[in-house]
Amino acid sequence: MKITFLGATKTVTGSNFLVEACGKRFLVDCGMWQGKQELEERNDEEFEFDPKSIDFMLLTHAHIDHSGRIPKLYKEGFKNKVYAHKATCDLCALMLPDSGHIQEMETSWKNKKRIRKGLDEIEPMYTAEEAARCLEIFQPVQYDEIIEITPEIHVRFNDAGHMLRF
Ligand SMILES: [Zn+2]
Repeated sequence: MKITFLGATKTVTGSNFLVEACGKRFLVDCGMWQGKQELEERNDEEFEFDPKSIDFMLLTHAHIDHSGRIPKLYKEGFKNKVYAHKATCDLCALMLPDSGHIQEMETSWKNKKRIRKGLDEIEPMYTAEEAARCLEIFQPVQYDEIIEITPEIHVRFNDAGHMLRF
């Protein structure tokens, strides 16, 4: 098994791990970088892997620093399942389109300044509508349920008490 730490190491945001095991490649979280401007600019960088090469994803919880780049992942070709607790799925259905809305607002504000400077306009990482689209790949699960993803990979979500419980 190989684990690549792609975020949340030197900083606490941008949680994203790539795991390669039993012939599969999967992600644990795909969060957004938050904080200083240079950190947030990392959200616009390309993924260090091909989103189409990922077999599935496990989402630990709904906070944007763990889930915020899922719409970007989806937009760039990841169409496989995101396993997450039912409550996480419900929260993401609200939080991700809201995050898209914020990005649309911030981008239009940045573009006003860019136009004044004679620079090209930029696109938001994803729009509210694009975020709503990615919800179709969410697969709700329950705590302690054993999910057989492949005969070799079994997953069980436990309550870590970090976010609200249902
Ligand atoms: Zn959190």
